Amino acid sequence: MVEPVPAAIALGSNLGDRRAAIHYALAALRRTPGVDVVSVSSFHETAPVGGVPQGPYLNAAASLETAMPPRDLLAALHAIERSFGRDRAREQRWGPRTLDLDLILYADAVINEPGLTVPHPRAHERLFVLDPLAEVAPDLVFPTLGRTVRDLRDALRPRD
Ligand code: ATP
Ligand code: CA
Ligand code: CA
Repeated sequence: MVEPVPAAIALGSNLGDRRAAIHYALAALRRTPGVDVVSVSSFHETAPVGGVPQGPYLNAAASLETAMPPRDLLAALHAIERSFGRDRAREQRWGPRTLDLDLILYADAVINEPGLTVPHPRAHERLFVLDPLAEVAPDLVFPTLGRTVRDLRDALRPRD
């Protein structure tokens, strides 16, 4: 464990009871030692981007304080996905899924390892990530870009 640091995650679901999936993930995170769920965004209905034709997503974001190292935190996110029944072996890339939990930011860490890239490499170009994230952590900075969540969100959607 390390000194608690801020982190941000994105949550998404487009199969089954999407709202239940996100509530399940948040409850599981709250039970995870070394993870403090600080704030949760509203739930956003969004159109699928890329991948196969599929139903709309429900997306949310949460800001955390965590004493877990980033790799352990990602492992915890994957364990929650699996415990909800997600089976990557049966999925298509960017296809429909019951529960998707992505680590978007971890303090000011820049990580490029097999299986773990932080900041999440596509988050800054996704309104379905930045809109909910801007509700809970608008001032977090993408260290690779030197820009805040709010700034990146506004750049994609100048109005508002
Ligand atoms: P995208 O990454 O474009 O959002 P996805 O969420 O559908 O796509 P997954 O199939 O859930 O992709 O994950 C693919 C791999 O991405 C996982 O094996 C995981 O180890 C890796 N990965 C690397 N960095 C991260 C991160 N910051 N958050 C979540 N997964 C990550
Ligand atoms: Ca994802
Ligand atoms: Ca993912």
